[in-house]
Amino acid sequence: MKNDGERKVTGIGIAPGVAIGPAFVIEQSGVPVPEYEIPVADVAAETKRLHGAIAKVQKHLGQLRARAAALPAGAEDMVLLLDAYKAMLSGSRLVRGAEDIIARQRLNAEAAVQKQIAVLRAGFAAMGDEYLAARGDDVADVGTRLIRSLQEQHYNPFAAAPEGCVILAEEITPADAALMVPGRIAGFATMLGGAEGHAAIMARALGLPAVSGAAALTHGVRSGEMVIIDGRAGFAIIRPDAATVQHYRHELARKKQEDKKLKSLRSVPAVTQDGTPVGLHANLELPRDVDAALEAGAIGIGLLRTEFMFMNRPDLPGEDEQYAVLRKLVERLDGRVLTVRTLDVGGEKLATALGDAVGESVNPALGLRAIRLGLKQPKLLDTQLAAILRAGQHGPVRILIPMVSSVAQMAQVRARLLQVERRLHRRGVKVKQPPVGAMIEIPSAALVADALAKVCDFFAIGSNDLTQYTLAIDRGDEHVADLYDPFHPAVLRLIQFTAAAGWRANIPVSICGEIAGDRRAAPLLLGLGVRDLSMSPLRLPAVKQEITQMTLAQALGFAESVMAKTDEADIRAMMAQGPARK
Ligand code: PEP
Ligand code: MG
Repeated sequence: MKNDGERKVTGIGIAPGVAIGPAFVIEQSGVPVPEYEIPVADVAAETKRLHGAIAKVQKHLGQLRARAAALPAGAEDMVLLLDAYKAMLSGSRLVRGAEDIIARQRLNAEAAVQKQIAVLRAGFAAMGDEYLAARGDDVADVGTRLIRSLQEQHYNPFAAAPEGCVILAEEITPADAALMVPGRIAGFATMLGGAEGHAAIMARALGLPAVSGAAALTHGVRSGEMVIIDGRAGFAIIRPDAATVQHYRHELARKKQEDKKLKSLRSVPAVTQDGTPVGLHANLELPRDVDAALEAGAIGIGLLRTEFMFMNRPDLPGEDEQYAVLRKLVERLDGRVLTVRTLDVGGEKLATALGDAVGESVNPALGLRAIRLGLKQPKLLDTQLAAILRAGQHGPVRILIPMVSSVAQMAQVRARLLQVERRLHRRGVKVKQPPVGAMIEIPSAALVADALAKVCDFFAIGSNDLTQYTLAIDRGDEHVADLYDPFHPAVLRLIQFTAAAGWRANIPVSICGEIAGDRRAAPLLLGLGVRDLSMSPLRLPAVKQEITQMTLAQALGFAESVMAKTDEADIRAMMAQGPARK
């Protein structure tokens, strides 16, 4: 018997795997709200603070609406709802009531909004009509967004999520994803978001099956109802019937067996059948991933994304705090190298403490992001450089600079590094200059790779951004996700050019974008001249298996035939088939 309630919601598969569990629908409510009295003299300032928060929420709702409006069929309700939400923030009873409470009761803005939500909700409920009661929920939702904005800090939306649940949400930011604990959370699905955004990368790093861009996902589903996420096929199934559940339970069991087999490769060296060693390194999103990296047999950390230190907090981490985190990692790695990338916020990655300085650009991916921000706010960069230099006293580190677009930027970074070293010496801290490398992730950097190689000790190719900037495709935008193609011949040529420049200058070149963890890509990348790959620890065993099953000669032949193609479809077909093996 089929369960009538089974509903399949299609989106984009952003992290493979299957999750089965009770839904935990992220509502906007449930934020703890501070309440305190304010002096009469502060009433005007408090009202102004309320209006500032309203403007921010309206802007955010506008952005959500634009993205929802462009979703495939099914998102009309969401668009209408967001319109209604925006209306509730312009001179409505919610706003007027909150203003009144600030002025008369002299309460802080968060408490005023909270009280007014309660008043309006009670009013709707008293009307005894289901439809109107739902409007009360909408008021609460808008009010809570306002409270979150006023508090200017993140709270953990998953704190009350039951063990083994599947998160369903409008949107998951990279900062939200960092709060998910695998084991406690089985997977997630969202209505918004593309496959190559940082929430997606975080999901893959955590091994959480995930789907994004699933319109109308949260409509008509309540927390506690059964949900399945198929992160490879890219859909969520709400209230699956028994046969569907059984099918996916089999799938889970099969995957478990496969993982066990791959785990046995841990101590097998990553060498091709004709004897070419390949350096397999790990990317770390969060320090806790280091255990998985070591378990997978990574020879070092090819990319530590330091953004986690800046997420989910209202302030910036100081030098000592950053040093303590890095030192612990260096010690844990026990002689393996730690490649620390300096802060890469901006674009879709935001740090609350840096506020509007990075978030307000019309085109944030092309704005004040990564090293551009670091060079404009040298204190931010210097603090991080000092912490890395100090961590280098305890084991090998490398410094990696994100979003480099010119040789001059590397010269500026090196000058700052010297200054930071001198300052540390004056404080009596003796440090050595570690190798300094550039992320090659902007076409201009790839095209001057020969010149950059003269001022860099190593390159790390960021294929995620290199694809985004070469093809002009926003990596986090679900509407153009189908056009995002890291195997586009233009991207491959830039990778090949960069690898060749690295060879000529005799500096190591790694790839640390998501294609490095795609086992199908390994023969091509090797054939293009890359000998080091850095990836999510969970993907390392499969890539290793691939390497041990091929020869360099096959990889070179394969790369040559791929590079002879200019049609993306031809390349995709070749990638799906892989190199001819004898
Ligand atoms: C990349 O762009 O490929 C990369 C590794 O950096 P991030 O994904 O953090 O931008
Ligand atoms: Mg990048």
